[in-house]
Amino acid sequence: ITPSGKDGWEVHFAAWQRKEAGEDIIMLSVGDHDFHTPAETVEAGVAALRAGHHHYTQLPGIPALREAMARISTRCTGVETSAEQIIATPGGQASLYAAVQGVLDPGDHAIVVAPYYATYPGTFRAAGADFTVVETRATDGFQPDAKTIEAAVRPNTRAMLINTPNNPTGAVYSRKSLEGIADVCRRHDLWLLSDEVYWTLGGGEHLSPRALPGMAERTLVINSMSKSHGMTGWRLGWLTGPEELVALLISLNLVTTYGLTDFVSRAAIEALNNDYGVDQIAALYARRRKLFLNAVHGMNDVTVRGSEGGMYAMLDISAVEPDDEKFAWAFLENENVGVMPGSSFGDAAAGHIRISLCQPEPVLLEAAERLRRFVSAYRR
Ligand code: PMP
Repeated sequence: ITPSGKDGWEVHFAAWQRKEAGEDIIMLSVGDHDFHTPAETVEAGVAALRAGHHHYTQLPGIPALREAMARISTRCTGVETSAEQIIATPGGQASLYAAVQGVLDPGDHAIVVAPYYATYPGTFRAAGADFTVVETRATDGFQPDAKTIEAAVRPNTRAMLINTPNNPTGAVYSRKSLEGIADVCRRHDLWLLSDEVYWTLGGGEHLSPRALPGMAERTLVINSMSKSHGMTGWRLGWLTGPEELVALLISLNLVTTYGLTDFVSRAAIEALNNDYGVDQIAALYARRRKLFLNAVHGMNDVTVRGSEGGMYAMLDISAVEPDDEKFAWAFLENENVGVMPGSSFGDAAAGHIRISLCQPEPVLLEAAERLRRFVSAYRR
């Protein structure tokens, strides 16, 4: 599933294996929290298990869960949202799958803005849909350009997929970028699939394209409890969209998941209604990002691109070594730090490394120090 067909993931797997074998490796290649789910959520899950919530649930999610999700969607997208506009799924990935299955038929075409999350191509292929990757430019901070996107529209184009705050670049799409995208969607009658799973980690007020004029009826927003609520392993996400489409997608849950895990749904209602962990997690990543980027700023030949939100930082290391895979392997060999080569996420991020901020602050500082030492000693 690597978008570029490159094997940058091998660096990550090698780092992982060496860490498992007991070596002192700093893993900056993993996109999962280094902390557990907030204790209140865990307690709500345990209480739900003890209370006998062990049964099948309604297909689109139990009503209280859809209502709780609708309240968060109203906050996330700035558009008043009802429970009927929500479908709960086991993880944001399943919502992405539902969205793509829902709006694309085999032979239809979609546009994907790159760099993008690794599962996107496979999700389109599973629907038999064709897609064109439209690159952003690192020198624009990975902001999408409407003209470049529009040039990729074909007669059979039905949808566009974007992700803000972005994995892997950490770019937070500006109002101007989103207005450009919305304009293309309206004029060419496209669905906009908007992956906003990092919406609480954008560092400021979140801007959803669903709020732009004429967009609520053509936008499907993907949300997840994984990042915002620290619940990656619980598998819970949701899709927000027009009621008529959501009603159709409920039959997809019938044939895929047959509803959600009962006690997980009950814990999620508590977590959503009480915002368990949300502010703390957002503040934690904001602090980590600032700390790490401060340590990197002023480093010779290393330039920060994007890196405004989400759980990642993107560093341009092309002045040190244009081959980002070679850089990542050498960094692992010499300094025991695992990072993702940018080219694993498509051409726009070539010459970059992606740094995951899922490590405690002292570890991030140590990694920055190792990077400084590595870069100053590096000889091509
Ligand atoms: N979208 C993006 C951009 C992601 O980074 C991820 C997870 N890393 C997902 C969707 C899926 O998340 P989940 O299935 O855990 O909700």
